Amino acid sequence: MDLVTLAPRFPGPGETLLGSRFFTTPGGKGANQAVAAARLGAGVAMVGALGRDAFGDQLHAGLAKEGIDLTHVARLDHEGSGSASITVAEGENEIVVVPAANACVTPAQVEAARETIARADAVLVQLEIPLDAVEATLRLGHKLDVPVILNPAPAQQLPAEWLRLASYLTPNQHELATALGADAETDFRELMRRAPCPVVLTHGGEGAWYRDDAHPQPAHQAGFKVDAADTTGAGDTFNGALAVFLHEGLAQAVRKACAAAALSVTRLGAQGGMPRLHELDAFLA
Ligand code: ADP
Repeated sequence: MDLVTLAPRFPGPGETLLGSRFFTTPGGKGANQAVAAARLGAGVAMVGALGRDAFGDQLHAGLAKEGIDLTHVARLDHEGSGSASITVAEGENEIVVVPAANACVTPAQVEAARETIARADAVLVQLEIPLDAVEATLRLGHKLDVPVILNPAPAQQLPAEWLRLASYLTPNQHELATALGADAETDFRELMRRAPCPVVLTHGGEGAWYRDDAHPQPAHQAGFKVDAADTTGAGDTFNGALAVFLHEGLAQAVRKACAAAALSVTRLGAQGGMPRLHELDAFLA
């Protein structure tokens, strides 16, 4: 759950300030990407964990309302739900994330979802859960021959073997350099060629680049021109859409993911801005 406070400026250590507004809004990369995919018409099942607290109840109900299968979302008695305390001031933000229940997702939970994963067209995984659970997902997908999209966010360096197990890596520029342990100054196209798996790189308003066996030189999909109101959740919308449309081929999936993400930035909120399939179809018509 994102806990957002609007303030006139950031408080100093030990200081108390009066803010102008406070609201909570559902977040978390896994949940956001699940919602993006569900709105675009896919059958979605989620593996994850929530606390048995008020935020957990609210998040669970929200995901269920989107039609997402929550069989493999654990409710924990000993941990609270993951949260992000966000202060917005002077056009910047400061964020403190507490993983809580998210830090309790286990490889055994992933294994328990084996039958669901075996039936899936694609699996999407991010780095907001323990790394052994991410690795279990990559290995299981590989074993079952189900494509696994690894969204390497938040940025961190990845074991080389993970890059070989992933079917697609979907970083932004900063995440790509970090994932490969490369110098941030290195040209991103060079890094895309260097990665041992196909890469789809998001590039903000400029769109996305993709490289796979069919496109050994990175190919570009231009961003769709829109009036951006709030770019929160653009990357999550992109990833959810990419998973949904992957079966149409990578070029088409990237085009639709860029369109869905562009639509999402025209509206406020991460999940609030995510388009439904008919809206995407109308936008692309
Ligand atoms: P992240 O927030 O994860 O860094 P990006 O900023 O790269 O992700 O955005 C993800 C995708 O969202 C981009 O590839 C692009 O398709 C779309 N997007 C982001 N910002 C805009 C924008 N201002 N206008 C149109 N599309 C955008």
